[in-house]
Amino acid sequence: MQNIIKNGKESNSVPLQGLGVDSPLGGEGIFYHFTFSEVAPTFAEILDFIKSTNLEEEHPAIVFIKEVLPQLNLDTGISGYYILKNLEELRLKDGLICIENIEFNLGRQLCGYIKEATQVALFVCTAGEYFTQLTNRLNEQGDIMEAYILDAIGSLTVEKAMDKIQESLKIKMLEKKLKISNRYSPGYCNWPLSDQQNLFQLIGENPTGIALSDSCLMTPRKSVSGLIGLGKNLKLHEYGCKICNNTTCIYRRILHE
Ligand code: SF4
Repeated sequence: MQNIIKNGKESNSVPLQGLGVDSPLGGEGIFYHFTFSEVAPTFAEILDFIKSTNLEEEHPAIVFIKEVLPQLNLDTGISGYYILKNLEELRLKDGLICIENIEFNLGRQLCGYIKEATQVALFVCTAGEYFTQLTNRLNEQGDIMEAYILDAIGSLTVEKAMDKIQESLKIKMLEKKLKISNRYSPGYCNWPLSDQQNLFQLIGENPTGIALSDSCLMTPRKSVSGLIGLGKNLKLHEYGCKICNNTTCIYRRILHE
């Protein structure tokens, strides 16, 4: 039986039979659903993300954001899920972890960040298909600036949803006297994107509807996946963004600046 959290409230009333996976830690797969208003980025966050904080009120970008935000007031599509797994092995020197006999090439940096972990939460989260459809439509119409801004809003939305899920996980784990790490995703922080296949295999069927292609890209496009370490003695490490040479990383802007 998995728990359901809808609009911030936990409930077991939504029938999701056949979805989710029984966790070895006692059925701890948890599904979250958000309305856009619960996780919407602020005006200032959007402008900061697109590096346009000094625009005049009548600038087309400002006009578009004012127009589009109310239209995004969706109550479907924004969702997330995590499942807890035991961390069977962590080989710091090799930069490897093992969960249910599946190896992940996390790299030494991330292994070091979660080296005291005894469990992990494997997560997926999406802002939904609507963002992709609307962005594609704007691109087809030649509205490139608008498409770019909408794409940015989608990125911020999924990260804000994931912030809420991470905070909820933190509170739940505190009850068990477990600390949690930051969240890490394949394709970032020297963790190969190819590990997405293993990640999705372990997460299994889940109610978010996020799918993975053979080339490890997620559908809907505005989706994230990854892991969070859990452990009694876990120490929280800062992301290594200051010494990382990945200049195009969106997380540098969203999470760590
Ligand atoms: S910029 Fe930060 S989050 Fe992005 S890959 Fe580098 S260390 Fe990781």
